[in-house]
Amino acid sequence: MKIKIDHIREKSRQYSFTESAESFPVLADMSSAGECNFTGPVNVNVTAGREFDHYRVDGLVTVPIQQNCSRCLCSFDKNICSSFSIFFRENFKNLEEEDEVELEERDLITADFSGDEIDLSMEIAEQVALEIPLKPLCSETCKGLCPVCGVDLNTETCSCVLDSKQSRFAALKNFKISS
Ligand SMILES: [Zn+2]
Ligand SMILES: [Zn+2]
Repeated sequence: MKIKIDHIREKSRQYSFTESAESFPVLADMSSAGECNFTGPVNVNVTAGREFDHYRVDGLVTVPIQQNCSRCLCSFDKNICSSFSIFFRENFKNLEEEDEVELEERDLITADFSGDEIDLSMEIAEQVALEIPLKPLCSETCKGLCPVCGVDLNTETCSCVLDSKQSRFAALKNFKISS
């Protein structure tokens, strides 16, 4: 995912890249650690151009993934989709300034480059990695598994859950009556 500086020095251009997730070391590590499964390639669409003293790359990265829900353990598909703006500065090494920029606007990244091309790979991989949930949920309302019998409470109900609820209500009722 490289852009030749010569191509964008005078005017902005649009680029599209498609690469397998495994070709990015950061993402290959996540995949082999079992954090998620990439079910398709990483697609990147960007506009790149010169702006003041730097090169600006605005774009969108998408990649389909499969994860296991941290509550019910079912496997589900999700599309990672993230927009970003990256400022590439030649031989830019000022980390303090980078922190400031990131605090102000989350998806604004400042990176450095040297030579006659900009390589987007590192920043794209980090952008994707940030969007992959550490505690994935198949749905915000996923009920998870019953901690006693292990049935999936999204599709089944079980008596152990009902029992504990009933007895709690019953105890409360008795307390009210007797006082
Ligand atoms: Zn779930
Ligand atoms: Zn149960």
